[in-house]
Amino acid sequence: MKIFTGFLLILLFGLFTPGKTVAQSMQKHKEGGLPDPQLSQKDNDYLDRQASVFLDSVKTILAVYPPVIHEGRERGFAKLLMDAVFHEKFAAFRKPGIDFFHTQADHLIKELVKTNADQDAIIWKLYNMGFIVRTKSVTLAFDLVGGASSDSPDFALPAEAMEQIVKQCDVLFISHKHHDHADKAMAEKFLEQGKPVIAPEEVWKDDPIFSKITHLERRAEKTQKLKLANNRTLDLIIYPGHQLTSAINNVSMVTTPEGITVAHTGDQINEGDMMGDFDWIDRVAKNHKVDILMPNAWTTDIFRIVRGFNPALVVPGHELELGHTVWDRLPYWGDDKYLELNYACLKKSKYPVVVMVWGECYHYNP
Ligand SMILES: [Zn+2]
Repeated sequence: MKIFTGFLLILLFGLFTPGKTVAQSMQKHKEGGLPDPQLSQKDNDYLDRQASVFLDSVKTILAVYPPVIHEGRERGFAKLLMDAVFHEKFAAFRKPGIDFFHTQADHLIKELVKTNADQDAIIWKLYNMGFIVRTKSVTLAFDLVGGASSDSPDFALPAEAMEQIVKQCDVLFISHKHHDHADKAMAEKFLEQGKPVIAPEEVWKDDPIFSKITHLERRAEKTQKLKLANNRTLDLIIYPGHQLTSAINNVSMVTTPEGITVAHTGDQINEGDMMGDFDWIDRVAKNHKVDILMPNAWTTDIFRIVRGFNPALVVPGHELELGHTVWDRLPYWGDDKYLELNYACLKKSKYPVVVMVWGECYHYNP
């Protein structure tokens, strides 16, 4: 919708710009194609065909090379192809991109339905920083979103798909208010099914849903209990994080009844005057044995955050968020130099890092 309004404005501006005749503007309009009005329809059609071929290759490669700690070149190439396809402004409006995401999500749903965890923890990535972690007795969801943040209604998962995913989960943790982490349609499904949704108070503050959200104390080193259905209890710490000054950000650390501890950082970022959160970040591992850390891969000093938690496994997220402008959709290849990140150092470090794609899963054995 936004895009068409924008296009209309450009068109109107063109009509009334001196020196440009109405005929020229109309001609431009006629030539403009969909979804990218800057290109002809033939050019748009080519990009669709290219996306389709590239993403077919991605699927073929990922089927043979699933997520592993030291991934090979083939899997790396698949991710480069994804970077290429999804760094085109209108990728979320093109059928191949939409079909790819939906197929990956369908695959995830099928696995969720049939897979039980035993001694291990199974991690799925749905989209952006949306993760699902299942242990023997519980299934935790973090920042689970259906892709509506892409602004492409066709890209967003249909309600039935979200319903099926939520059915398989016990609880949703939302880190902060931004749409690529907080999806109201998804949260409503949890609440409808009587499953708790934990979020900071900035999330949907003036909305009727606010009173149904669980707001826990944001305090480092304070362990809180959360009761789930069937007498299951989680031990939680909600670390008082921030996305600089733009949002209050819950960094949730959850210990399951089996004693597996997982932490999700949302959009935690520290730089400039906002370095205070390192007071608690640097000390997490002194008091806790963390199994799995899910950090936002674009944060400036990811290596220091990982050292603070000292986890047995790192599973980064936030690649290719299509609601962001092209340069800000973190690519799998990193763009570290431009973004001033040390993500590449982390990947070369002693820490086991597994980088997943939408819909994939990884088995962690403590
Ligand atoms: Zn984000």
